Amino acid sequence: MTKTIRALGLFSGGLDSMLAAATLRAQGIDVSLVTFVTPFFGAARARESAAHLGLPLMEVDLTDKYLPLIYDPPHGFGRGHNPCIDCHTLMLREAGALMAAAGFDFLFTGEVLGQRPMSQNRGSLNLIARESGFADLLLRPLSAKSLKTTQPEVRGWVDRERLLNLSGRGRKPQLALAQEFGITRFPAPAGGCLLTDPRYATRLKELLRHVQEATRCDLELLKYGRHFRLPGGAKAVVGRIQRENEAIETLIASGDFLLKVEQYPGPLVLGRGVASEEDLAAAAGLAAAYSDAPEGAPVTVTAEPGGSDRVFHLTTPAKDRFIPWLV
Ligand code: SF4
Repeated sequence: MTKTIRALGLFSGGLDSMLAAATLRAQGIDVSLVTFVTPFFGAARARESAAHLGLPLMEVDLTDKYLPLIYDPPHGFGRGHNPCIDCHTLMLREAGALMAAAGFDFLFTGEVLGQRPMSQNRGSLNLIARESGFADLLLRPLSAKSLKTTQPEVRGWVDRERLLNLSGRGRKPQLALAQEFGITRFPAPAGGCLLTDPRYATRLKELLRHVQEATRCDLELLKYGRHFRLPGGAKAVVGRIQRENEAIETLIASGDFLLKVEQYPGPLVLGRGVASEEDLAAAAGLAAAYSDAPEGAPVTVTAEPGGSDRVFHLTTPAKDRFIPWLV
């Protein structure tokens, strides 16, 4: 009886990774998928696409191992704060460990030669494969015919002739293949990684200049509200809508302050890293300015955890005053 060959695919849920999986499945390979999760990208797309393909998907949280890469990735950042080369290398290293532990025969990805200038040129693909430690067992089915032959092909597990030689940024061949494989639902290209989002990347860079060891909670908080860096170095976050207020509330950590205007409705204002009375008073000013209190109205702002020195009686300032602190 011939042994069933089992492949584990690094799966973002994008069309390319779906096609790579479908290409191998069409050759009779037993295909499983793995997707990695951090505060910057989740598993929702992968989950949906794996379900559409009817393939099993593992979800692995990579946050702790990922954090050093947002400070100092050996191969640098892309246009945002995306360390794509090191990100791919880390994911492949982790997928390789899973492959070995769970008895898969080889790894595959949906990478396409020349599709992304930084991480998918020939040099980067080779570098990523080499640094992952699994170069020989890593197959890129969509561009395999333009790349060095790998062990799965040499050993006859996979028929190289039935793999592809896609390259470049065009999407036409992928769309034709999707039709061939009956793939009718797939996400739009790009998107899905906050590290490439200019607004998030700006906030993240600013955070990393102030915090030596950002926590998962800090990184989640960057997704919500208006962020202000106060003169003493603390951060104040002001919710913009109810949904943000609720999200911010779930991210309150020990040492944080919550500021609230007594006489008027207002947003949730969270102070993090507050080490001076000056910053706490500044956060109270923000809470008043962004509340429904008219400019110039006298208000009382309380800060929790409380105490008599945490009650501020002030005149509601103009919002403009805080613009220089906006991140
Ligand atoms: S876009 Fe984001 S998830 Fe994709 S390789 Fe780059 S850093 Fe990693």
